[in-house]
Amino acid sequence: MADQCLFCRIVRREIPATLVAETADCVAFRDINPQAPVHVVVIPRKHVASLNEADDPQLVGRLAVVAAEIAGREGIASSGYRTVINTNADAGQTVFHIHLHLLGGRRLGWPPG
Ligand code: 5GP
Ligand code: ZN
Repeated sequence: MADQCLFCRIVRREIPATLVAETADCVAFRDINPQAPVHVVVIPRKHVASLNEADDPQLVGRLAVVAAEIAGREGIASSGYRTVINTNADAGQTVFHIHLHLLGGRRLGWPPG
């Protein structure tokens, strides 16, 4: 599965992406179809299909910590931002490699659509 996984391929640099952060466990890059002025996707290097398959709380936590660090660098920590993990069909997950969206730089509606 990981062979053909789009985000695994980004981790392996087989597909280009605009990287904004790299740690030992995580990679973050700008979303190709941004929904806000700042729209970054944070992923683990390890292939995990979705939150349903995630069994490492530290790894899931690190996605959030990396997102907060990027929010600071992007200048949206004070104004505010949203972090989202879409899981399966009802949430609109389209890439089955767990990822945390970091969205900010504009007023975000609530509840989400
Ligand atoms: P999901 O809908 O699964 O929660 O989020 C997948 C996200 O990945 C979408 O926001 C989509 O725009 C983004 N995406 C899909 N393919 C690529 C790609 O090749 N490069 C980058 N940078 N983002 C992608
Ligand atoms: Zn993957």
